[in-house]
Amino acid sequence: MTCEPTNVPSPEEIDIPAIQEKYQQERNKRIRPDGQKQYAKIKEEFTEEYLHDPHTPVVSRDPISEDLDVAVLGTGWSGLLSAYHLKNAGITNFRNIDHGGDWGGVWYWNRYPGIQCDNDAYCYLPLLEETGFMPSKKYSDGYEIYDYFKVIAEKYSLGEKALFHTLITGLRWDDNIKRWRISTNRGDEIRARFVIMANGLLNIPKLPKIPGIHDFQGKMFHTSRWEYDYTGGSYRNPVLDKLKDKKVAIIGTGATAIQAIPYLGKYAKQVYVLQRTPSPVDQRNNNPTDPEWAASLQPGWQKERMANFHRAAMEGRFLPGEEDLVGDFWTEITRNLMAEVRAEGREQEISIEEYYSRRDTMDYQVMERMRRRVESLIEDQETSEALKVWYRFLCKRPLSNDDYYDTFNRPNVKLIDVSETQGVERMTENGFVANGEEYDIDCMIFASGFEVTSDLDRRWGIDTYEGRNGISIYDHWKYGYKTLHGTMTSNFPNQFFIGYYQGGLNATTTEQYGRQAYHSTYIIKEALARGLSAVEPSEQAQEAYVQHVRETAVDISAFQAQCPPSYYNNEGHKVKDEDGHLKFRNFLGEAYGPGWDAFEKLLADWREQGDLDGLVTE
Ligand code: NDP
Repeated sequence: MTCEPTNVPSPEEIDIPAIQEKYQQERNKRIRPDGQKQYAKIKEEFTEEYLHDPHTPVVSRDPISEDLDVAVLGTGWSGLLSAYHLKNAGITNFRNIDHGGDWGGVWYWNRYPGIQCDNDAYCYLPLLEETGFMPSKKYSDGYEIYDYFKVIAEKYSLGEKALFHTLITGLRWDDNIKRWRISTNRGDEIRARFVIMANGLLNIPKLPKIPGIHDFQGKMFHTSRWEYDYTGGSYRNPVLDKLKDKKVAIIGTGATAIQAIPYLGKYAKQVYVLQRTPSPVDQRNNNPTDPEWAASLQPGWQKERMANFHRAAMEGRFLPGEEDLVGDFWTEITRNLMAEVRAEGREQEISIEEYYSRRDTMDYQVMERMRRRVESLIEDQETSEALKVWYRFLCKRPLSNDDYYDTFNRPNVKLIDVSETQGVERMTENGFVANGEEYDIDCMIFASGFEVTSDLDRRWGIDTYEGRNGISIYDHWKYGYKTLHGTMTSNFPNQFFIGYYQGGLNATTTEQYGRQAYHSTYIIKEALARGLSAVEPSEQAQEAYVQHVRETAVDISAFQAQCPPSYYNNEGHKVKDEDGHLKFRNFLGEAYGPGWDAFEKLLADWREQGDLDGLVTE
């Protein structure tokens, strides 16, 4: 595990104004007027693929009619951590409900070859000290994460009542019974006093609306529904031997694609990689866990590591003398800059303005390092140019993989740059058309991502979702989130949201979800103990909190304006807020500007006060 600064070109070696201009040109080239509408609403146009579960057979069962204290919608990390905190709080009459066939959420569905976590597993896998589990390497394989869900679920007996293969179709608050009525695709009627929305960020796959897509006669699937029956191999042993006589195309070069492409390159007869925007792919250094290091860890190590990672990745600066414990591509800019400033002996003196201005410069230096990396690894000049990334760090997800670039040196792998036509032009009965040329293929794989910053109804896919007086959540939040503490919203009593809304942002997603689940559980426990039938934010308290969030928000719109379109920014399209102002959407929601520690303190003080301040109760 290296925590040394990386070797980047000096500011004098790069022409920053010219790079900025290039960034802007590349961005403008990719902005499509149809924005999110370039993608099909999957439930409408690809029902079979969307509902199909290639991993676990669906077993028929009778519909359930029951009353619950808490329904938790989801069995991914936020659902599992909600169950964990409910159980810890002594609440047992709850059920997790999920479309998937087992625990895992994205880690249930996504089983494509090469799947690994891109975050330091010692941070990302929650409750490591509590369970005594130690990841086998720095970036866990997907199946290690999937298996770890069960370690937690079994250790704390969380799964006794979990309902799998059950898709929520409706949520309706019934004021007569002070409960949420939940309907599902299995005909269930569940009446829950409280609902925790743990429905995740990457749960609805999206497919590009390529003209002619339904004409294609070959095989097609989305990476989150990988069909090993067709490709050969299996989740734990992805030897894709059935592809040896197949021509395969893959759409996308994001986090998913770059992990799967080396396997396609290795096994398929011919691979076409259809790239619209390249990703920055660094070396991985995925070392096995050193048993001596693991044995040396002291109690509290995981929280400490997460806090260290948060400072590096989110705050951009370490504490005086603090070392980079994670030491990877997420923390590189901070690591490099801190090393420079320390070498100058100015760690304590440097002004905030100078520090953050130098961070901007380091961003250009690091991205130039990435372009030079491509040049050094790719043999074909045209391919090398196409793989170079022309945008700032964190415009898109930074990635790492030790086999990705090498794959393009194989004779059976061809990169097709479709940026000029803003995507694949057309599909035909036999294949696809790109840059005017038709290619015959047997299989098209969509690594085209998920609904993340598109409109809420596309993202959630729940047909009916109504709070008090039939108010739809899709109307209620049409112009942006309105919450108290990013957790609850008015007119939707007894309902809690886990995810990226208006709360504190932590560099470790699972830590953020876990803390939100803890806070939601506190309110549920208090409401049950006090015999309350309904709790929800008062309009006044909610308004004051929303104002506070907006006034203290860190303005990243200038940064967003430089980024190419993607799910990070709703395909680069601004949307209207309540006052008619156009704003970028951010996949991280409206994060609490004063930062994670300030947010955690705000909530801890609020709980300490003990009077459920700002909530109206019945
Ligand atoms: P992304 O949204 O990141 O990537 C989708 C890809 O499809 C992009 O390259 C996009 O190009 C391309 N695309 C979409 N439409 C077209 C089209 N019409 N023609 C050509 N290309 C097209 O999805 P991913 O599944 O890769 O990743 C989603 C997220 O899931 C990640 O960012 C990450 O948060 C998570 N993830 C995490 C992993 C981990 O931790 N290891 C692994 C995998 C995923 P363009 O960029 O031009 O829009």
